[in-house]
Amino acid sequence: MNSLQKKVSPLEVAKKQIDIAAKYLELDPGLIERLRYTKRELIVHFPVKMDNGGIRVFTGYRVQHNVARGPAKGGIRYHPDVDLDEVRALAMWMTWKSAVVNIPFGGAKGGVQCNPKEMSLQEIEHLTRRFTWEICLMLGPEQDIPAPDVYTNPQVMAWIMDTFSILKGYSVPGVVTGKPIELGGSLGRFEATGRGVVITALEALKFLKKSIEGARVVIQGCGNVGGIAAKHFDRLGAKVIAISDSSKGIHNEKGLDVQRILDYKAQYQCFLCESKEETEITNKELLELDCDILVPAAIENQIVGENAPRIKAKVIVEGANGPTTTEADEILNDKGIFVVPDILANAGGVTVSYFEWVQNLQELIWSEEEVLDRLTRIMQRAFNEVLEISISKKVPMRTAALVLGIGRVAEATRLRGLYP
Ligand code: NAD
Repeated sequence: MNSLQKKVSPLEVAKKQIDIAAKYLELDPGLIERLRYTKRELIVHFPVKMDNGGIRVFTGYRVQHNVARGPAKGGIRYHPDVDLDEVRALAMWMTWKSAVVNIPFGGAKGGVQCNPKEMSLQEIEHLTRRFTWEICLMLGPEQDIPAPDVYTNPQVMAWIMDTFSILKGYSVPGVVTGKPIELGGSLGRFEATGRGVVITALEALKFLKKSIEGARVVIQGCGNVGGIAAKHFDRLGAKVIAISDSSKGIHNEKGLDVQRILDYKAQYQCFLCESKEETEITNKELLELDCDILVPAAIENQIVGENAPRIKAKVIVEGANGPTTTEADEILNDKGIFVVPDILANAGGVTVSYFEWVQNLQELIWSEEEVLDRLTRIMQRAFNEVLEISISKKVPMRTAALVLGIGRVAEATRLRGLYP
Protein backbone atom coordinates (compact mmCIF):
# COMPACT_ATOMS: atom_id res chain seq x y z
CA MET A 1 0.00 0.00 0.00
CA ASN A 2 1.53 3.40 -0.88
CA SER A 3 1.42 6.47 1.35
CA LEU A 4 -1.38 8.05 -0.68
CA GLN A 5 -3.66 5.03 -0.22
CA LYS A 6 -2.84 4.85 3.49
CA LYS A 7 -4.40 8.27 4.13
CA VAL A 8 -7.95 7.08 3.45
CA SER A 9 -9.47 5.55 6.57
CA PRO A 10 -11.87 2.68 5.73
CA LEU A 11 -13.95 3.71 8.75
CA GLU A 12 -14.35 7.24 7.33
CA VAL A 13 -15.43 5.68 4.02
CA ALA A 14 -17.93 3.41 5.83
CA LYS A 15 -19.38 6.33 7.82
CA LYS A 16 -19.68 8.52 4.72
CA GLN A 17 -21.57 5.69 3.05
CA ILE A 18 -24.11 5.67 5.91
CA ASP A 19 -24.63 9.42 5.42
CA ILE A 20 -25.13 8.95 1.67
CA ALA A 21 -27.70 6.15 2.15
CA ALA A 22 -29.46 8.00 5.00
CA LYS A 23 -30.50 10.74 2.53
CA TYR A 24 -32.73 8.19 0.78
CA LEU A 25 -34.07 6.53 3.95
CA GLU A 26 -36.41 8.42 6.22
CA LEU A 27 -34.71 7.35 9.42
CA ASP A 28 -34.80 8.73 12.92
CA PRO A 29 -31.47 10.57 13.51
CA GLY A 30 -30.99 8.57 16.73
CA LEU A 31 -31.24 5.34 14.77
CA ILE A 32 -28.64 6.53 12.27
CA GLU A 33 -26.40 7.43 15.20
CA ARG A 34 -26.71 3.87 16.54
CA LEU A 35 -25.73 2.39 13.17
CA ARG A 36 -22.60 4.58 13.01
CA TYR A 37 -21.22 2.85 16.12
CA THR A 38 -20.01 -0.71 16.58
CA LYS A 39 -21.74 -2.66 19.35
CA ARG A 40 -18.82 -4.46 20.98
CA GLU A 41 -15.03 -4.31 20.53
CA LEU A 42 -12.30 -6.43 22.05
CA ILE A 43 -8.58 -5.63 21.70
CA VAL A 44 -6.15 -8.28 22.88
CA HIS A 45 -2.36 -8.31 23.23
CA PHE A 46 -1.22 -11.89 23.53
CA PRO A 47 2.05 -13.86 23.65
CA VAL A 48 3.03 -16.52 21.13
CA LYS A 49 5.98 -18.87 21.37
CA MET A 50 8.02 -18.58 18.15
CA ASP A 51 10.11 -21.33 16.53
CA ASN A 52 13.35 -19.81 17.85
CA GLY A 53 12.11 -20.33 21.41
CA GLY A 54 11.43 -16.61 21.93
CA ILE A 55 8.09 -15.00 22.81
CA ARG A 56 6.41 -12.35 20.64
CA VAL A 57 3.39 -10.30 21.63
CA PHE A 58 0.72 -9.78 18.94
CA THR A 59 -2.28 -7.45 18.86
CA GLY A 60 -5.65 -8.78 17.73
CA TYR A 61 -9.19 -7.44 17.42
CA ARG A 62 -12.74 -8.75 17.31
CA VAL A 63 -15.49 -6.25 16.62
CA GLN A 64 -19.25 -6.84 16.43
CA HIS A 65 -21.06 -4.04 14.66
CA ASN A 66 -24.76 -4.93 14.82
CA VAL A 67 -26.69 -8.07 15.78
CA ALA A 68 -30.27 -6.86 15.27
CA ARG A 69 -30.92 -9.44 12.52
CA GLY A 70 -29.00 -12.40 13.97
CA PRO A 71 -25.61 -13.59 15.27
CA ALA A 72 -22.54 -11.54 14.36
CA LYS A 73 -20.73 -12.90 11.30
CA GLY A 74 -17.44 -11.96 9.71
CA GLY A 75 -13.97 -13.08 8.76
CA ILE A 76 -10.63 -12.96 10.52
CA ARG A 77 -7.63 -11.55 8.67
CA TYR A 78 -3.92 -11.82 9.39
CA HIS A 79 -2.14 -8.78 7.93
CA PRO A 80 0.53 -6.28 9.08
CA ASP A 81 -1.81 -3.30 8.41
CA VAL A 82 -4.77 -4.55 10.51
CA ASP A 83 -5.94 -1.90 12.97
CA LEU A 84 -9.07 -1.15 15.00
CA ASP A 85 -10.62 1.31 12.53
CA GLU A 86 -10.14 -1.09 9.61
CA VAL A 87 -11.79 -3.92 11.58
CA ARG A 88 -14.66 -1.60 12.58
CA ALA A 89 -15.28 -0.67 8.94
CA LEU A 90 -15.10 -4.28 7.80
CA ALA A 91 -17.58 -5.27 10.56
CA MET A 92 -19.98 -2.55 9.40
CA TRP A 93 -19.78 -3.73 5.80
CA MET A 94 -20.55 -7.28 6.99
CA THR A 95 -23.76 -6.03 8.63
CA TRP A 96 -24.96 -4.36 5.42
CA LYS A 97 -23.83 -7.31 3.29
CA SER A 98 -25.79 -9.93 5.26
CA ALA A 99 -28.84 -7.67 4.97
CA VAL A 100 -28.40 -7.09 1.21
CA VAL A 101 -28.58 -10.84 0.56
CA ASN A 102 -31.25 -11.04 3.31
CA ILE A 103 -29.68 -13.72 5.48
CA PRO A 104 -30.25 -13.67 9.26
CA PHE A 105 -26.82 -12.51 10.40
CA GLY A 106 -25.36 -9.35 11.86
CA GLY A 107 -21.86 -8.07 11.13
CA ALA A 108 -18.47 -8.65 12.75
CA LYS A 109 -14.81 -8.78 11.80
CA GLY A 110 -11.53 -9.73 13.40
CA GLY A 111 -7.87 -9.54 12.70
CA VAL A 112 -4.38 -9.96 14.02
CA GLN A 113 -1.57 -7.55 13.18
CA CYS A 114 1.08 -9.95 11.88
CA ASN A 115 2.88 -10.97 8.71
CA PRO A 116 1.96 -14.62 8.10
CA LYS A 117 4.34 -14.71 5.10
CA GLU A 118 7.22 -14.50 7.57
CA MET A 119 5.83 -17.09 9.99
CA SER A 120 6.01 -20.88 9.97
CA LEU A 121 2.86 -23.02 9.93
CA GLN A 122 3.51 -23.91 13.57
CA GLU A 123 3.78 -20.24 14.58
CA ILE A 124 0.52 -19.48 12.74
CA GLU A 125 -1.16 -22.37 14.57
CA HIS A 126 0.10 -21.13 17.97
CA LEU A 127 -1.05 -17.59 17.15
CA THR A 128 -4.48 -18.83 16.01
CA ARG A 129 -5.10 -21.00 19.07
CA ARG A 130 -4.05 -18.30 21.55
CA PHE A 131 -6.06 -15.61 19.70
CA THR A 132 -9.12 -17.90 19.76
CA TRP A 133 -8.73 -18.33 23.52
CA GLU A 134 -8.38 -14.56 23.97
CA ILE A 135 -11.60 -13.75 22.07
CA CYS A 136 -13.61 -16.91 22.87
CA LEU A 137 -15.97 -15.05 25.21
CA MET A 138 -17.40 -13.33 22.12
CA LEU A 139 -17.65 -16.44 19.91
CA GLY A 140 -20.22 -19.20 19.49
CA PRO A 141 -22.75 -20.41 16.90
CA GLU A 142 -25.48 -18.25 18.47
CA GLN A 143 -23.17 -15.28 19.12
CA ASP A 144 -20.43 -14.66 16.63
CA ILE A 145 -19.13 -16.88 13.83
CA PRO A 146 -15.73 -16.16 12.18
CA ALA A 147 -14.71 -17.20 8.65
CA PRO A 148 -11.57 -16.90 6.48
CA ASP A 149 -10.42 -13.54 5.15
CA VAL A 150 -7.09 -12.16 3.89
CA TYR A 151 -4.27 -14.65 4.67
CA THR A 152 -6.47 -17.01 6.70
CA ASN A 153 -7.88 -20.24 5.26
CA PRO A 154 -9.79 -23.47 6.07
CA GLN A 155 -6.84 -24.79 8.15
CA VAL A 156 -6.94 -21.67 10.34
CA MET A 157 -10.72 -22.19 10.76
CA ALA A 158 -10.05 -25.82 11.79
CA TRP A 159 -7.66 -24.62 14.54
CA ILE A 160 -10.24 -22.07 15.77
CA MET A 161 -12.96 -24.73 15.83
CA ASP A 162 -10.69 -27.21 17.63
CA THR A 163 -9.57 -24.68 20.27
CA PHE A 164 -13.13 -23.48 20.89
CA SER A 165 -14.36 -27.11 21.12
CA ILE A 166 -11.63 -27.99 23.65
CA LEU A 167 -12.69 -25.02 25.79
CA LYS A 168 -16.34 -26.17 25.65
CA GLY A 169 -15.60 -29.87 26.13
CA TYR A 170 -17.50 -30.99 23.03
CA SER A 171 -17.25 -30.41 19.25
CA VAL A 172 -18.78 -27.14 18.07
CA PRO A 173 -18.54 -27.13 14.25
CA GLY A 174 -20.97 -24.18 13.96
CA VAL A 175 -18.54 -21.75 15.64
CA VAL A 176 -16.75 -21.06 12.33
CA THR A 177 -17.53 -21.33 8.64
CA GLY A 178 -15.14 -21.94 5.79
CA LYS A 179 -13.87 -25.06 7.61
CA PRO A 180 -12.44 -28.09 5.81
CA ILE A 181 -15.25 -30.33 4.48
CA GLU A 182 -14.02 -33.13 6.79
CA LEU A 183 -14.92 -31.00 9.85
CA GLY A 184 -18.38 -29.96 8.71
CA GLY A 185 -17.42 -27.38 6.10
CA SER A 186 -19.97 -26.87 3.33
CA LEU A 187 -19.39 -28.10 -0.18
CA GLY A 188 -19.03 -25.01 -2.36
CA ARG A 189 -17.91 -22.66 0.48
CA PHE A 190 -14.31 -22.37 -0.69
CA GLU A 191 -15.46 -21.27 -4.16
CA ALA A 192 -18.49 -19.25 -2.97
CA THR A 193 -17.11 -15.69 -2.93
CA GLY A 194 -15.38 -16.01 -6.32
CA ARG A 195 -18.47 -17.63 -7.81
CA GLY A 196 -20.68 -14.89 -6.36
CA VAL A 197 -18.42 -12.29 -8.02
CA VAL A 198 -18.94 -14.03 -11.38
CA ILE A 199 -22.71 -14.44 -10.86
CA THR A 200 -23.13 -10.70 -10.20
CA ALA A 201 -20.78 -9.85 -13.12
CA LEU A 202 -23.04 -11.92 -15.40
CA GLU A 203 -26.13 -10.10 -14.11
CA ALA A 204 -24.40 -6.76 -14.76
CA LEU A 205 -23.51 -7.80 -18.31
CA LYS A 206 -27.09 -8.98 -18.90
CA PHE A 207 -28.39 -5.57 -17.80
CA LEU A 208 -25.83 -3.76 -19.97
CA LYS A 209 -26.62 -6.10 -22.90
CA LYS A 210 -23.01 -7.27 -23.20
CA SER A 211 -21.69 -10.79 -23.63
CA ILE A 212 -19.30 -12.69 -21.35
CA GLU A 213 -17.86 -14.46 -24.41
CA GLY A 214 -14.53 -12.76 -25.14
CA ALA A 215 -15.02 -10.10 -22.41
CA ARG A 216 -11.59 -8.84 -21.25
CA VAL A 217 -11.22 -9.31 -17.50
CA VAL A 218 -8.56 -7.86 -15.16
CA ILE A 219 -8.24 -9.22 -11.61
CA GLN A 220 -6.25 -7.72 -8.74
CA GLY A 221 -5.39 -10.45 -6.24
CA CYS A 222 -5.24 -14.17 -6.95
CA GLY A 223 -6.19 -15.56 -3.54
CA ASN A 224 -9.43 -17.25 -2.60
CA VAL A 225 -11.65 -14.60 -4.22
CA GLY A 226 -9.53 -13.46 -7.20
CA GLY A 227 -8.19 -16.91 -8.08
CA ILE A 228 -11.57 -18.65 -8.08
CA ALA A 229 -13.21 -15.77 -9.98
CA ALA A 230 -10.42 -15.97 -12.61
CA LYS A 231 -11.05 -19.70 -13.17
CA HIS A 232 -14.79 -19.21 -13.57
CA PHE A 233 -14.49 -16.21 -15.91
CA ASP A 234 -12.09 -18.32 -18.00
CA ARG A 235 -14.50 -21.30 -18.06
CA LEU A 236 -17.32 -19.03 -19.24
CA GLY A 237 -15.31 -17.90 -22.27
CA ALA A 238 -14.08 -14.54 -20.96
CA LYS A 239 -10.42 -13.56 -21.52
CA VAL A 240 -8.54 -12.93 -18.27
CA ILE A 241 -5.88 -10.52 -19.55
CA ALA A 242 -4.16 -9.68 -16.22
CA ILE A 243 -3.95 -10.93 -12.65
CA SER A 244 -1.73 -9.98 -9.70
CA ASP A 245 -0.58 -10.79 -6.20
CA SER A 246 0.70 -8.39 -3.52
CA SER A 247 4.04 -7.81 -5.30
CA LYS A 248 3.12 -7.62 -9.02
CA GLY A 249 0.97 -8.91 -11.85
CA ILE A 250 1.15 -10.71 -15.17
CA HIS A 251 -0.46 -9.35 -18.36
CA ASN A 252 -1.27 -10.79 -21.80
CA GLU A 253 -3.62 -8.84 -24.08
CA LYS A 254 -4.56 -12.10 -25.86
CA GLY A 255 -5.65 -13.75 -22.60
CA LEU A 256 -3.70 -15.64 -19.94
CA ASP A 257 -3.59 -19.39 -19.45
CA VAL A 258 -5.32 -19.00 -16.06
CA GLN A 259 -4.93 -22.56 -14.82
CA ARG A 260 -1.20 -22.68 -15.62
CA ILE A 261 -0.55 -19.33 -13.96
CA LEU A 262 -2.48 -20.19 -10.79
CA ASP A 263 -0.85 -23.64 -10.55
CA TYR A 264 2.61 -22.05 -10.88
CA LYS A 265 1.75 -19.38 -8.31
CA ALA A 266 0.48 -22.05 -5.87
CA GLN A 267 3.72 -24.01 -6.22
CA TYR A 268 6.34 -21.22 -6.35
CA GLN A 269 4.48 -18.20 -4.81
CA CYS A 270 5.22 -16.04 -7.89
CA PHE A 271 4.30 -15.61 -11.56
CA LEU A 272 6.35 -16.75 -14.56
CA CYS A 273 6.15 -15.05 -17.99
CA GLU A 274 6.40 -17.91 -20.47
CA SER A 275 6.11 -16.06 -23.80
CA LYS A 276 6.93 -12.60 -25.09
CA GLU A 277 3.24 -11.74 -25.08
CA GLU A 278 3.20 -12.19 -21.31
CA THR A 279 4.70 -9.27 -19.42
CA GLU A 280 5.09 -8.25 -15.81
CA ILE A 281 2.90 -5.38 -14.65
CA THR A 282 2.60 -3.41 -11.41
CA ASN A 283 -0.63 -3.43 -9.38
CA LYS A 284 -1.00 0.27 -10.17
CA GLU A 285 -0.75 -0.32 -13.96
CA LEU A 286 -3.05 -3.33 -13.76
CA LEU A 287 -5.91 -1.31 -12.28
CA GLU A 288 -5.67 1.17 -15.15
CA LEU A 289 -5.76 -1.38 -17.99
CA ASP A 290 -8.40 -1.00 -20.68
CA CYS A 291 -10.85 -3.87 -20.04
CA ASP A 292 -14.51 -4.84 -19.89
CA ILE A 293 -14.52 -6.08 -16.28
CA LEU A 294 -12.14 -5.07 -13.48
CA VAL A 295 -12.25 -7.17 -10.30
CA PRO A 296 -10.34 -5.68 -7.37
CA ALA A 297 -10.00 -8.77 -5.11
CA ALA A 298 -7.19 -7.84 -2.70
CA ILE A 299 -7.53 -5.14 -0.04
CA GLU A 300 -9.07 -1.70 0.67
CA ASN A 301 -8.24 1.67 -0.91
CA GLN A 302 -7.06 0.51 -4.32
CA ILE A 303 -9.24 2.82 -6.43
CA VAL A 304 -8.80 6.29 -4.93
CA GLY A 305 -9.27 9.89 -6.05
CA GLU A 306 -5.79 9.92 -7.61
CA ASN A 307 -6.14 6.93 -9.98
CA ALA A 308 -9.92 6.86 -10.52
CA PRO A 309 -9.77 9.29 -13.51
CA ARG A 310 -7.48 6.81 -15.31
CA ILE A 311 -9.63 3.69 -14.73
CA LYS A 312 -10.77 2.42 -18.14
CA ALA A 313 -12.87 -0.60 -17.15
CA LYS A 314 -16.51 -0.60 -18.31
CA VAL A 315 -17.68 -2.60 -15.28
CA ILE A 316 -16.08 -2.96 -11.83
CA VAL A 317 -17.08 -5.94 -9.69
CA GLU A 318 -15.69 -5.51 -6.17
CA GLY A 319 -14.43 -8.86 -4.88
CA ALA A 320 -12.51 -7.12 -2.09
CA ASN A 321 -14.10 -5.21 0.76
CA GLY A 322 -13.75 -1.44 0.47
CA PRO A 323 -11.46 -1.29 -2.60
CA THR A 324 -12.97 2.07 -3.69
CA THR A 325 -13.04 5.31 -1.68
CA THR A 326 -16.07 7.64 -1.73
CA GLU A 327 -14.05 10.25 -3.65
CA ALA A 328 -13.17 7.67 -6.32
CA ASP A 329 -16.78 6.50 -6.42
CA GLU A 330 -17.98 9.92 -7.59
CA ILE A 331 -15.35 9.97 -10.34
CA LEU A 332 -16.26 6.45 -11.52
CA ASN A 333 -19.91 7.41 -11.51
CA ASP A 334 -19.24 10.54 -13.62
CA LYS A 335 -17.31 8.37 -16.06
CA GLY A 336 -20.35 6.08 -16.42
CA ILE A 337 -18.55 3.01 -15.06
CA PHE A 338 -21.02 0.41 -13.76
CA VAL A 339 -19.89 -0.65 -10.26
CA VAL A 340 -21.17 -3.80 -8.56
CA PRO A 341 -20.36 -2.80 -4.96
CA ASP A 342 -18.55 -5.04 -2.46
CA ILE A 343 -21.54 -5.58 -0.16
CA LEU A 344 -23.32 -7.18 -3.11
CA ALA A 345 -20.53 -8.58 -5.30
CA ASN A 346 -18.65 -10.51 -2.62
CA ALA A 347 -21.71 -11.58 -0.60
CA GLY A 348 -21.45 -15.13 -2.00
CA GLY A 349 -19.03 -15.96 0.82
CA VAL A 350 -21.34 -15.00 3.67
CA THR A 351 -24.27 -16.61 1.86
CA VAL A 352 -22.63 -20.04 1.71
CA SER A 353 -21.26 -19.47 5.24
CA TYR A 354 -24.90 -19.18 6.24
CA PHE A 355 -25.61 -22.49 4.45
CA GLU A 356 -22.67 -24.07 6.30
CA TRP A 357 -23.96 -22.81 9.66
CA VAL A 358 -27.48 -24.09 8.92
CA GLN A 359 -26.09 -27.51 7.94
CA ASN A 360 -23.97 -27.63 11.14
CA LEU A 361 -26.86 -26.69 13.42
CA GLN A 362 -29.22 -29.18 11.77
CA GLU A 363 -26.56 -31.86 11.16
CA LEU A 364 -27.34 -31.91 7.45
CA ILE A 365 -25.08 -32.29 4.42
CA TRP A 366 -26.20 -30.55 1.23
CA SER A 367 -24.85 -31.49 -2.20
CA GLU A 368 -22.67 -29.03 -4.11
CA GLU A 369 -25.43 -28.61 -6.70
CA GLU A 370 -27.92 -27.69 -4.00
CA VAL A 371 -25.49 -25.14 -2.52
CA LEU A 372 -24.70 -23.59 -5.92
CA ASP A 373 -28.32 -23.49 -6.95
CA ARG A 374 -29.33 -21.69 -3.73
CA LEU A 375 -26.30 -19.36 -3.99
CA THR A 376 -27.13 -18.42 -7.57
CA ARG A 377 -30.77 -17.70 -6.76
CA ILE A 378 -29.89 -15.53 -3.73
CA MET A 379 -27.19 -13.56 -5.59
CA GLN A 380 -29.40 -12.97 -8.63
CA ARG A 381 -32.31 -11.88 -6.47
CA ALA A 382 -30.11 -9.50 -4.44
CA PHE A 383 -28.55 -8.04 -7.62
CA ASN A 384 -31.96 -7.35 -9.11
CA GLU A 385 -33.35 -5.85 -5.90
CA VAL A 386 -30.37 -3.47 -5.81
CA LEU A 387 -30.71 -2.70 -9.52
CA GLU A 388 -34.39 -1.86 -9.07
CA ILE A 389 -33.56 0.66 -6.31
CA SER A 390 -30.74 2.06 -8.44
CA ILE A 391 -33.14 2.65 -11.35
CA SER A 392 -36.13 3.88 -9.35
CA LYS A 393 -34.12 6.26 -7.15
CA LYS A 394 -31.66 7.18 -9.95
CA VAL A 395 -28.67 6.39 -7.73
CA PRO A 396 -25.47 4.38 -8.36
CA MET A 397 -25.50 0.68 -7.50
CA ARG A 398 -23.44 1.28 -4.32
CA THR A 399 -25.95 3.77 -2.93
CA ALA A 400 -28.77 1.40 -3.88
CA ALA A 401 -27.10 -1.54 -2.09
CA LEU A 402 -26.52 0.61 1.00
CA VAL A 403 -30.14 1.80 0.94
CA LEU A 404 -31.31 -1.83 0.79
CA GLY A 405 -28.89 -3.16 3.43
CA ILE A 406 -28.99 -0.25 5.86
CA GLY A 407 -32.77 0.03 5.43
CA ARG A 408 -33.24 -3.62 6.47
CA VAL A 409 -30.90 -3.31 9.47
CA ALA A 410 -32.52 -0.04 10.57
CA GLU A 411 -35.99 -1.58 10.42
CA ALA A 412 -34.87 -4.64 12.45
CA THR A 413 -33.18 -2.34 15.00
CA ARG A 414 -36.32 -0.15 15.23
CA LEU A 415 -38.63 -3.15 15.66
CA ARG A 416 -36.52 -4.57 18.47
CA GLY A 417 -36.74 -1.23 20.25
CA LEU A 418 -34.53 0.02 23.01
CA TYR A 419 -33.80 -1.78 26.28
CA PRO A 420 -34.70 -0.90 29.02
P1 NAD B 1 -6.49 -14.19 0.21
O1 NAD B 1 -5.54 -14.07 1.34
O2 NAD B 1 -6.89 -15.55 -0.22
O3 NAD B 1 -5.93 -13.43 -1.07
C1 NAD B 1 -5.55 -12.08 -1.02
C2 NAD B 1 -4.90 -11.72 -2.34
O4 NAD B 1 -4.63 -10.32 -2.35
C3 NAD B 1 -3.57 -12.43 -2.57
O5 NAD B 1 -3.44 -12.78 -3.93
C4 NAD B 1 -2.54 -11.35 -2.20
O6 NAD B 1 -1.31 -11.55 -2.85
C5 NAD B 1 -3.25 -10.11 -2.69
N1 NAD B 1 -2.81 -8.89 -2.02
C6 NAD B 1 -2.56 -8.70 -0.70
N2 NAD B 1 -2.13 -7.46 -0.49
C7 NAD B 1 -2.11 -6.84 -1.69
C8 NAD B 1 -1.77 -5.54 -2.13
N3 NAD B 1 -1.31 -4.61 -1.27
N4 NAD B 1 -1.90 -5.25 -3.45
C9 NAD B 1 -2.33 -6.17 -4.31
N5 NAD B 1 -2.66 -7.42 -3.96
C10 NAD B 1 -2.55 -7.75 -2.67
O7 NAD B 1 -7.76 -13.32 0.62
P2 NAD B 1 -9.23 -13.42 0.03
O8 NAD B 1 -10.03 -14.25 0.95
O9 NAD B 1 -9.18 -13.72 -1.43
O10 NAD B 1 -9.72 -11.91 0.26
C11 NAD B 1 -9.51 -10.89 -0.71
C12 NAD B 1 -10.52 -9.77 -0.48
O11 NAD B 1 -11.83 -10.30 -0.57
C13 NAD B 1 -10.45 -9.11 0.91
O12 NAD B 1 -10.80 -7.75 0.77
C14 NAD B 1 -11.53 -9.85 1.68
O13 NAD B 1 -12.01 -9.06 2.78
C15 NAD B 1 -12.57 -10.00 0.60
N6 NAD B 1 -13.55 -11.05 0.86
C16 NAD B 1 -13.17 -12.35 1.05
C17 NAD B 1 -14.13 -13.30 1.26
C18 NAD B 1 -13.80 -14.78 1.41
O14 NAD B 1 -14.73 -15.59 1.46
N7 NAD B 1 -12.54 -15.16 1.45
C19 NAD B 1 -15.50 -12.96 1.30
C20 NAD B 1 -15.85 -11.63 1.08
C21 NAD B 1 -14.86 -10.68 0.85
